[in-house]
Amino acid sequence: MFDIFTELQEAKIAFKEHLSGKELTTYRAGGKISVVAYPESVAALKKLVGIAMETGTKFMPIGLGSNVLIDEKGFDGILISSIGFRDIGIRGNRITAGSGVSLKRALEFSVEHDFSAFEELTGIPASVGGMAKCNAGSFGKEMGDIVASATVFDFKTGETQILPRSEIAYAYRSSGKSFSGKFILSVEVEGAHSERVLPLSRYYRDRRAGLQPGYPSLGSVFKRTPDGISLGYYIDKAGLKGVRSGGAEISDKHAGFIVNRGGGSAGDYLALKELARETVMRKFGVNAEDEIIVIGNNE
Ligand SMILES: Cc1cc2nc3c(=O)[nH]c(=O)nc-3n(C[C@H](O)[C@H](O)[C@H](O)COP(=O)(O)OP(=O)(O)OC[C@H]3O[C@@H](n4cnc5c(N)ncnc54)[C@H](O)[C@@H]3O)c2cc1C
Repeated sequence: MFDIFTELQEAKIAFKEHLSGKELTTYRAGGKISVVAYPESVAALKKLVGIAMETGTKFMPIGLGSNVLIDEKGFDGILISSIGFRDIGIRGNRITAGSGVSLKRALEFSVEHDFSAFEELTGIPASVGGMAKCNAGSFGKEMGDIVASATVFDFKTGETQILPRSEIAYAYRSSGKSFSGKFILSVEVEGAHSERVLPLSRYYRDRRAGLQPGYPSLGSVFKRTPDGISLGYYIDKAGLKGVRSGGAEISDKHAGFIVNRGGGSAGDYLALKELARETVMRKFGVNAEDEIIVIGNNE
């Protein structure tokens, strides 16, 4: 790692050492990351990836960490933060947002420009890039419904490329392999003119607030079943609401969430996740597929 620090310094790429899941994820706990790097240009990203490849260091992109659990053993590699890619602009009925733009900022911009696209998603604590990768969705709207194209950097070729929507394999909470081996630089979103963006956004914000727990979490732990039933329904039916492991809890407000009630660790989270998975399979024969992404040296 020492060589990497020197090379990053020489390349003038901002980075931090030994941040943990506490600083990097919305669960506010998890293992340590050797390096988090903050490139702000394609040139810097290219240089960074070159350094990682030359030194055989593993790396992956990260947005706002609202869907990622870093396991207790941490991640012995580089997380490439998107937050340096933060431009946003509008042309006709399309907004182009850097991958590191938060949904909150994208919504503020949308309100300023009477641009309707994101309203149903209001309140998801995510970056535009992370949402495009995960095909985040709520209240019947998914990112895949509004993405017109994504500009990506290919780790292998070092080239930048525009992927039109037709080439992105969107499915429920998934973009397939469309962004594998790629860093999303920016996302072009198609919308329509509307003067009701603010009231609609507030409406969905309030609906969300009534449903979701107030403690740190990663959102829904599991995907819905193929027939569209929330795993929270089965977890609740199994009597697991409010069950705790250390400082983590299967939320007593929404059984689909595991929350950090204070002092919860990544291990506590994983223990509850496994308990829920095993119980719904045993009691109802339901297969719980992860929605969250676990990364780290254990994986
Ligand atoms: C309270 C709460 C509520 C939530 N509600 C919802 C909801 O209603 N609907 C929903 O779908 N999700 C929800 N989530 C989950 C989460 O917000 C989404 O999955 C979101 O899309 C993750 O975005 P992020 O920026 O935090 O990405 P991260 O969690 O940082 O990363 C997620 C994945 O995207 C990849 N990634 C991130 N940025 C890039 C990039 N620039 N290029 C390539 N890959 C990238 C990462 O490598 C990782 O694989 C919720 C989470 C929380 C905490």
